[in-house]
Amino acid sequence: MQPLPKFEYREPESVAEAARLLAEFGSRAKLIGGGTDLVPSMRQGLFAPACVISLQRIAGLRGIAWEEGAGLRIGALTTLREVEASTEARARFPFLAAAAREVGSPQLREMGTVGGNLCLDTRCRYYNQSEDWQDCVEACVKRGGEFCKASPNGRARKCFAVFSADLATALVAAGARVTLQSAGGARTIDLADYYTGDGASPHAAKPGEVLTEVLVPGRMQGVFGTYLKYRVRQAIDYPIAGVALTLRARDGRVHDARMIVGGVASRPLVVKAVPELLEGRVLDEPLVESAARLARKAATPLANTAGDRAHRRQMVYEFARRALAQAAAHAAVATGEKGAR
Ligand SMILES: Cc1cc2nc3c(=O)[nH]c(=O)nc-3n(C[C@H](O)[C@H](O)[C@H](O)COP(=O)(O)OP(=O)(O)OC[C@H]3O[C@@H](n4cnc5c(N)ncnc54)[C@H](O)[C@@H]3O)c2cc1C
Ligand code: SF4
Repeated sequence: MQPLPKFEYREPESVAEAARLLAEFGSRAKLIGGGTDLVPSMRQGLFAPACVISLQRIAGLRGIAWEEGAGLRIGALTTLREVEASTEARARFPFLAAAAREVGSPQLREMGTVGGNLCLDTRCRYYNQSEDWQDCVEACVKRGGEFCKASPNGRARKCFAVFSADLATALVAAGARVTLQSAGGARTIDLADYYTGDGASPHAAKPGEVLTEVLVPGRMQGVFGTYLKYRVRQAIDYPIAGVALTLRARDGRVHDARMIVGGVASRPLVVKAVPELLEGRVLDEPLVESAARLARKAATPLANTAGDRAHRRQMVYEFARRALAQAAAHAAVATGEKGAR
């Protein structure tokens, strides 16, 4: 790790002031929440912002609150530990509290924020390296070069760095929406649309936008949800494959399923074929098997993170199976249950 480069440090006390600073410094500024991702990246020489804008003094960005008719509002500066421990989150969306608990280590969750998790940069073993390492190799697309080293023949002109945020993946499965505020005003979009799929520029934020809040819609209360994560070291590690599943069981049949795969693509991967297959059907063993195969088919990781590609795909299948089996048991929609046919 290198010492941090020199930068101007600002601590605005309102979102409007943060947005004004962002407008002033443009691409030379970086926002910082808990700093658990940004600071190590700066030490690696991946970023050298002229100005770092801390969100820590903006009190209005903290907290979790249930709002009748709207849903669960989580401020961007809320820590992962606060989500994990929140009675509202645990009571209404236990799988989200559990997904927050999957992130890194207790120390990282004490510092790391929800906003930072949603805005996490993509990762790649050819990119998240020291400057010394980078100096010895040709720059790839994400570093301003021509080709992607991780692509099968090394000739792709696109970046496939991997989006590896646990809570974000679960929140996409929860149908969450995010609010983005700039000097020009605020807008709210589906969290799924916040991700571009481009590893070099993974977020759809417009210049000058601060992510201020995530809202889990109230209509999602009561759905079954789960998030299963595969990582190399259990104690502390990014996901190298993860499956989030939500669905509603009504009259013994599946409705409104969402399956999202994390850690295998440049965005949380929405497996559209799964809800198409499951809608209105009884979640029996053959259906679980078919849906898990669809998840595996959709996941096509490259060899740019830890873990073997084929094994990671197989883990997507295994976790999809487990998640669906949990759903079947939990929602009592498995074969043979009352009202299942
Ligand atoms: C060893 C290690 C292990 C880790 N393991 C995991 C893991 O298992 N799972 C996982 O999901 N993450 C992991 N992380 C990443 C990180 O700790 C978490 O994702 C955390 O939630 C990031 O939040 P933060 O507030 O610290 O982000 P920061 O470092 O403050 O910011 C991250 C990025 O988001 C931007 N940003 C922050 N807040 C906002 C906002 N409100 N609006 C717009 N942009 C914003 C910053 O500019 C920066 O680019 C790990 C990190 C380390 C160092
Ligand atoms: S996926 Fe390719 S372009 Fe992107 S960081 Fe890795 S090697 Fe570079």
